[in-house]
Amino acid sequence: MAGIYIHIPFCKTRCIYCDFYSTTRSELKPRYIRALCRELTERKEYLKGEAVETIYFGGGTPSQLSEEDFKEIFKTIEQVYGMKEAKEITLEANPDDLTEEYTGMLSTLPFNRISMGIQTFDDTTLQLLNRRHNAAQAIEAVGRCRRAGFRNISIDLIYGLPGETDERWKRDLQQAVSLEVEHISAYHLTYEEGTPIYSMLQSHRIREVDEESSVHFFSALIDALTAAGYKHYEISNFCKPGMYSRHNTSYWRGIPYLGCGPSAHSFNTLTREWNVASLEKYMRSIEEGHREFETEYRDIATRYNECIMTAIRTMWGVPMQYVEQTFGTELWQYCMDMASPYLKSGKLELKDDYLCLTREGIFTSDGIISDLMFVEE
Ligand code: SF4
Repeated sequence: MAGIYIHIPFCKTRCIYCDFYSTTRSELKPRYIRALCRELTERKEYLKGEAVETIYFGGGTPSQLSEEDFKEIFKTIEQVYGMKEAKEITLEANPDDLTEEYTGMLSTLPFNRISMGIQTFDDTTLQLLNRRHNAAQAIEAVGRCRRAGFRNISIDLIYGLPGETDERWKRDLQQAVSLEVEHISAYHLTYEEGTPIYSMLQSHRIREVDEESSVHFFSALIDALTAAGYKHYEISNFCKPGMYSRHNTSYWRGIPYLGCGPSAHSFNTLTREWNVASLEKYMRSIEEGHREFETEYRDIATRYNECIMTAIRTMWGVPMQYVEQTFGTELWQYCMDMASPYLKSGKLELKDDYLCLTREGIFTSDGIISDLMFVEE
């Protein structure tokens, strides 16, 4: 099984916290779609004939594409890879793009999952973040997706935003729960260097929430969503029973995927590669027949570290038998030794030979993960 990730690098406007690669130059769309389809066609061999189980349109803002753009991309995927086994086909969408007409159009395409970037239901904060929608539009957009027939909707939230209080975060959580969506992703705001929000922080125009509050928000998140029947299946992801994101789960499980478009990453178990993060350079290189990308051979320690880093974040944990069989007894022993103090303190547990974070461990997961990683001396 394999996945395909399609990067759509266009945004109408830029949000002040975002460091994903995207551009507001929408006039380049037709040329981009041609280059993207050419990349999809020319990299047919990358997945070695594995059936494509998930397709994910991420960005940028994929909901900036038209029906014709989507049809062109799906036609290429169908011809080159086939879509018979594609069980989950996700579109990342911005709420303000999801008009009645647009959701109706989406429902005629192969998409069966919508992932919506809502971030918060606080209008003042949405404005500060330079989001294009307000809370009412986000709520309406979820309703429209439902009416258009989508039975798998995910929303993204951000917490630890400037001025965040317990009350505001709880209101966001209540509102999110009341939408009865199948999946919720919630991330703590990070101040990425180079973003406008980072400059605002540096010039003291906004304040970062303190660590104690961050822990509090995370705890409130877990409590509210688990009480509402969501499964906490990955540190930042929650779903109604069985509705976990197959695409993201395959990243965590080391299943191969092909990523097309500028800045998109691909992975085929032994190597990882990523396309140039510039739309102009990407399109030119594809048109000239020599795609610009970098590649990294993954040695055994890198593969072990990636396995630990991703699997420990999930409710399934790190499969220790797999660690021993794949990376050898030495790395298995290393992992067990490093895990030992955390097993004793109750921050990690072994469940049927799977190494898992406990509820207590989740709050200090960064430190635990870095201890379990192998660093060559
Ligand atoms: S719409 Fe999404 S990708 Fe575009 S700037 Fe905002 S957060 Fe980033």
